[in-house]
Amino acid sequence: MEVLKFGGTSVGSAERMKSVAGLINNPGKKIVVLSAMSGTTDWLVKISNALLKQETENAVKLINELEPRYRKTVEELYSTKEYIHKGNELITEHFNFLLSFTRDMFTPNEEKTILAEGELLSTALVQYYLEEQKVSSVLLPALNFMRIDNEGEPDLPYIEEHLKKELAKHPHINLFITQGYICRNPFGQVDNLKRGGSDYTASLVGAAIYATEVQIWTDIDGMHNNDPRYVQGTYPIAELSFDEAAELAYFGAKILHPACILPAQKRKIPVRLLNTMQPEAKGTLISQASQGHDIKAVAAKDNITVIKIKSARMLLAYGFLRSVFEVFERYKTPIDMITTSEVAISLTIDETIHIDHILEELKNFGTVEIEMNQTIICIVGDFLAEKHGYALRIFDAMKDIPIRMISYGGSTNNISVLIHGDDKKKALIALNEGVFKKVKS
Ligand code: ASP
Ligand code: MG
Repeated sequence: MEVLKFGGTSVGSAERMKSVAGLINNPGKKIVVLSAMSGTTDWLVKISNALLKQETENAVKLINELEPRYRKTVEELYSTKEYIHKGNELITEHFNFLLSFTRDMFTPNEEKTILAEGELLSTALVQYYLEEQKVSSVLLPALNFMRIDNEGEPDLPYIEEHLKKELAKHPHINLFITQGYICRNPFGQVDNLKRGGSDYTASLVGAAIYATEVQIWTDIDGMHNNDPRYVQGTYPIAELSFDEAAELAYFGAKILHPACILPAQKRKIPVRLLNTMQPEAKGTLISQASQGHDIKAVAAKDNITVIKIKSARMLLAYGFLRSVFEVFERYKTPIDMITTSEVAISLTIDETIHIDHILEELKNFGTVEIEMNQTIICIVGDFLAEKHGYALRIFDAMKDIPIRMISYGGSTNNISVLIHGDDKKKALIALNEGVFKKVKS
């Protein structure tokens, strides 16, 4: 059985939904995971923010502004009166539900219920379309099997058990549609896997059923070797290992949710990135095996904050690093990069909500400096320890860019370099010229 996930743009209009139906209507058992129509979740966030601020009128206005797009989709998607009617009833039901929140007290818990509407709508619309086209398929409610635990982490054993039960109800069906992103928490309340979480759903579903492959269909032809928004002439990488893909996803390649690799990796299920607009393109295959030993791609992660702690107490002392890290642990703030010297430590963080408290506590150790608006340039590949020259090529390419931190050797898949955010574009272009053009020629 395969798992195919289609993102927001891929189901962003009636026309796109019809292409998705074309891509999934073929022999072979599969579970299809869909995102909300593009822009919908952002809009639902706006609606719930208005409700949280008790701006009822604004919330009503926002809800009413979203509805016509769905009416239009219904008009364009279905060809029979029966399904246009069914589709319109579905829209009425969901928009009345949204409006019901404007008449009552609104709690942060209900926010998640509102955010779930996008995927509930997109999947129901596509399921009706398949029914109208006489394609035999079943809509599996993700809320019946997707679950997170008390820590907000997916509960794979639960998902496995309950998804199997759902599938067993339909032994003769080959095509299943389900919602990405949405789930329940341990109290049974509607929750989600955080923004962009549909990829994560696909990987979890794939892991739960030991799928033969997980396919992530987007609007780009795979993971590129560099950021196409800043650099011309980027190309899709044919093959990546799970570790390489995870580094790239975490450090900025927008195509994949960073957590999404792990469940598939655990069960060695290949993940293929494909393009809905160009279904015949090869895309990127992410699997256990890594192909070739070289620099494969670069990605950039913005809005990084660097913290530098200088302390004479660190000299010849032990336990110092632990005490520093404990501060970050207490405030549940992940550290991305670290470098140390005998009397100083520099580290970077991405999440700054607790920054004031963290700085306050760090001051007990020595002098603390902080700088915002930094960028991590992450260079990914398979860097064999015994082979030389990788670092030279990278730093030669970046010779005109001031470098603030370097992390090399943490894994054989990653070299990270910290630069000022303003130098990002220049760095990505320089690496393209100095590394990839030379690799290709
Ligand atoms: N619809 C959700 C979002 O926009 C989940 C997803 O598309 O992956 O974040
Ligand atoms: Mg996405």
